[in-house]
Amino acid sequence: MSNPTQQRNCRHRIATAQRQTQINRIRDEARKVRRAADELKQAADELEYKIETTNRLFDDLERKIQDTDRYYAGLVQQTRDKLADYIVRMRNLRNSFDVPDYYTSFLESEFALRDPGGLGGGNRQMLITDILSNEAELDALHAYIDAVLALKRLSDVDSVNTLRGALSALEFKDKAGIINVVVDAPEVPRDMFMGFVGYLDIVVGSFDAFHLTTGRLWFNPERDRNNPKGAYWTFFHEAFHMIDWALHSQQGELKTRGSEFTQRLYDAIRQDVEAQLRQLAASIPVDFEVVSGAFPNQHAPWMQGGLQSANAIREAAIENILAGRVVVSSDNRTNAAGANLSPVESLQLQLQNMAIAMVEGNLHQHKTPYNMITVLDAFAGASNGAVGSTHFGGRPPDYWYRPIGNPIHPTHNQNSETFANHMANWMLNNETAMQNDKDLMPNAMGVVDEIVDSILGGIR
Ligand SMILES: [Zn+2]
Repeated sequence: MSNPTQQRNCRHRIATAQRQTQINRIRDEARKVRRAADELKQAADELEYKIETTNRLFDDLERKIQDTDRYYAGLVQQTRDKLADYIVRMRNLRNSFDVPDYYTSFLESEFALRDPGGLGGGNRQMLITDILSNEAELDALHAYIDAVLALKRLSDVDSVNTLRGALSALEFKDKAGIINVVVDAPEVPRDMFMGFVGYLDIVVGSFDAFHLTTGRLWFNPERDRNNPKGAYWTFFHEAFHMIDWALHSQQGELKTRGSEFTQRLYDAIRQDVEAQLRQLAASIPVDFEVVSGAFPNQHAPWMQGGLQSANAIREAAIENILAGRVVVSSDNRTNAAGANLSPVESLQLQLQNMAIAMVEGNLHQHKTPYNMITVLDAFAGASNGAVGSTHFGGRPPDYWYRPIGNPIHPTHNQNSETFANHMANWMLNNETAMQNDKDLMPNAMGVVDEIVDSILGGIR
């Protein structure tokens, strides 16, 4: 029960309460918004702070980069300055050496070695000026000086200067080439060669030979420079003939009857050649008809008798070859096909052809003629040219036996050629050639080793 006023008051209170509730709600909302705004502002402040910090970091970094750039630029400049300074100092140093004077004094010493007391000062100066103004000559002179310096590290100075004097007639490029062979040679042949340079008496000519009577070494540099056996092979071959001669003038140690090694080396060479011939002969078939033809008086030979007879034919052929009895001249062997040959002659001809093919390197790999020179000469020498690509193996008819073709009187050139050939192979360090020498001539190489030891014993 209520009156209208009461009712109005009541509605008013309700409305007021409702408004108050709304206000409170709005205040709450406003407070929340303010709090959110505060938080946002704080976040913005933090962000700003972080941006500032980051900016500072970047500024720092940029400063550091600039510092580093400046530092390295400084280093580069310093290095450049130092290099420039070094270049100037090196130039000054080089100028202080006076290079032309160095060459001039080297060349002066060359002329003094060649011709002591000869060539007047004016002529010398002209020659020196010529050499120093020629580009190719100057290069060759460089190579020669380098070779001399290299040899001085391996051998005594006196021997090197003696060698320089002995080579003085040659061109710089040949002097350099020869000395470089010595520098690159194994110790044994190098020591042997250097031990005898005092005997070198070189004459430049159109051929190569060592003259026993004069002791002169004739030498064709043009040809030897491009020697297929190796550059300057022939020079060293002749030089080892000279060493043999120096040990026993006139004939050479290895050709002197009664000398320690003469007979032994000759026998060893013959033994090696005979062994090779026997091995080759065993591979040549001898048929029954041939045996009957060879021994017509031996009727109905049994198998054993036939074999013995076949071997007898082989032995007879070997004996003929070792006695230098040729069926036909080596130069005409190919024309012998139609000739009426006895069984022994026929087998001998086959054997000769096989042996020639072997020494010329046709039968085996790695045995080119240039790596077979020792064997080739030894076969020609031991067979008086029966086993040689040309008659007497390209030598004069009395080169191996004197009187001509008499196997009882060897000249023992077989010895000196075997020694000189093998030593030249050794000097040039031609391992294939040396292996061929040892494989095919084991006995002879055994004696050569003893000779080498004996010579080294005399000079070391
Ligand atoms: Zn020779």
